[in-house]
Amino acid sequence: MVESNKEELQLELNDLFNLFEVSDIIVKHTEIDEKNKITNEFRYIKDGQEKSYSFTYDMDNSLSDLRKKSLRKRMVKNQLYKILSENLNKTLPWGSLTGVRPTKLARDLIDYGEMKDYLVAEILERDYYVSHKKAELVASILRNQKCIIRNDNLVDLYINIPICPTRCVYCSFISSELSRVKDKVDIYIDAVIKEINAVKNIIKRKAYVVRSIYIGGGTPSVLTARQLDRLLNEVNFLPSEFTVECGRADTITDEKLDILKNHGVTRISINPQTFCEATLKRIGRKQKNKDILSAYQKALARDFVVNMDFIAGLPGEKLGIFKRTINTALELYPNNITVHTLSLKKGSTLFDNNGSVQDRDVEKMIDYAEDTLAKNGYKPYYLYRQKHQLSGLENVGYFRDGDVCIFNIDSMEETNTIIGVGANAISKRVYNIEHTIKRQPNVKFIEDYVDRIDEIIEKKEEFFK
Ligand code: SF4
Repeated sequence: MVESNKEELQLELNDLFNLFEVSDIIVKHTEIDEKNKITNEFRYIKDGQEKSYSFTYDMDNSLSDLRKKSLRKRMVKNQLYKILSENLNKTLPWGSLTGVRPTKLARDLIDYGEMKDYLVAEILERDYYVSHKKAELVASILRNQKCIIRNDNLVDLYINIPICPTRCVYCSFISSELSRVKDKVDIYIDAVIKEINAVKNIIKRKAYVVRSIYIGGGTPSVLTARQLDRLLNEVNFLPSEFTVECGRADTITDEKLDILKNHGVTRISINPQTFCEATLKRIGRKQKNKDILSAYQKALARDFVVNMDFIAGLPGEKLGIFKRTINTALELYPNNITVHTLSLKKGSTLFDNNGSVQDRDVEKMIDYAEDTLAKNGYKPYYLYRQKHQLSGLENVGYFRDGDVCIFNIDSMEETNTIIGVGANAISKRVYNIEHTIKRQPNVKFIEDYVDRIDEIIEKKEEFFK
């Protein structure tokens, strides 16, 4: 464990310390600030033996408070990383970087004139101890994000349907099983439609242009054909990109796909996660490979751009099984493939039954996916990390033939405003000139959302004033 005398640094130091996965070490940190000289002192304690470290650096007083804060965090995390890495003889793929978005960090440094784009990989390796492979991955993703436009009038719309047919064992999202909320789905859609109509007024008043729409969850395709039609009737913004997650193949029918097509949906996500049926059963998904293949054929027949999600590190899976899954995905050749690393979070059944996940070579799985997808014409275009991902790894979205998902890029890089609609959706207002972002979450649960929809709309109108 790590203890700091500065509360504002504690969380990030914890996150970094936890990535080393050690339980028999204590690190005590003290920050001393004297006349713009900052000293970080560390005591590294193991088996009653203690080592002391001290690092001092100058704080540039001309920096804004925000920049000072981020420099303090970076310095203390780098110093803790060096101490742990040397003593434990262990490096981490993402070095001292914690937090969700390594690509956003690099993009902001470039866009705000603090780093040249051709130096991205070099600086991530040198200043953050990121491995060569991951630093090159970030540099290549930035090159592939050509659609980014920083413009405060462009917005993306996200609509959340936090309902699923059943709950997957690794899931920690707020999403209800359909059987539990079946009689509330129609009133939930009524409330979502009410919020969408309020959003239409905001868009008109602010002269926003909707760049992309993403209906996610949960599993939006769990709605009946009639419910989907009713919802989509109201989502008439006609952007060039319109995605609906249809993650569970057992929820996809010809009728629903026709409805999506008729309402201008351009992209859907069918998420096998694995092509090993024994694993599918183990993780609580009823689907069979034949369901996935049939859903995929139906989507191709209607000319949707298709994404498929996969997870490295699922319980019981070894490298060989994961390789077969990636190879099968390549035979299907969807436009987008997203490779996640399993994240073991509190709130998932898998976390509660800890011990069932073991002996996986997740780094090799992720390397295999990256190398094999590249050999087959796929390029990485967005990346994010979650807490508690196995081996401190990441999630990466790949595309082929120019079919990037604008929404995924905008939401990860935070370059455009996102208007979030529905329970547990978050609106993010981006002010590109001021370099600031303001966030406003809706209430988390469907029942509260329905009960408090008028108050939610009022707050949203205030937020987008
Ligand atoms: S389909 Fe996705 S959101 Fe739904 S339970 Fe499974 S992992 Fe969670």
